[in-house]
Amino acid sequence: MQWTRTETLALAHQACSICYGLGLRPGRGGASAPCNCVFRAIFRACYARFKQCASKEKYISRVSLEANPGRQRRSVWGLKDEEFIADFCLVSKRTLTPREHFIFKFHYLYGADWKLCCRRMGIDRGTFFHEAYRIEQKLGKTFRELEPHALFPVDEYFNSTTREQMHSSLIHKVEMEELPKAAKLLRFPLKRAA
Ligand SMILES: [Zn+2]
Repeated sequence: MQWTRTETLALAHQACSICYGLGLRPGRGGASAPCNCVFRAIFRACYARFKQCASKEKYISRVSLEANPGRQRRSVWGLKDEEFIADFCLVSKRTLTPREHFIFKFHYLYGADWKLCCRRMGIDRGTFFHEAYRIEQKLGKTFRELEPHALFPVDEYFNSTTREQMHSSLIHKVEMEELPKAAKLLRFPLKRAA
């Protein structure tokens, strides 16, 4: 995929001290590359949608009948929320190192705050936020550049026609492993023991 200046400009953090709100920073060989604030903005948009999907009363939720614009014009059952949740979890697991994924799960999926994460991992506040930033940057970049189905822009993901084969076995796997816990904990985030 190609990044455009319009896209990075729209996503950049206005007060960013690296790109000054332009969304681009000098990359390799003199070419410019998207700034980390752009990647973090992408991650946050996807994470907000993930929380919205996972926090629904039942995570097995909306089943929509969608028209398939292909030659056969048959309709297919779409499970967009579940698809998004599964992609969000699986792409993250694939992209992050085991240590990063541990933080990702504990903080972003289970809702543990920074104090609890620091205590659990034996790290200080600065180290925690440094790692959290790196996770958000890495995932934001991957969510946007993922082919053939990028998770961002989120609206495009949800408006696209349903994929040929829904990986039901894959979704089932994530569901069984992560979702009941994540969905519950997002509504009642982990708290430090008094
Ligand atoms: Zn920036």
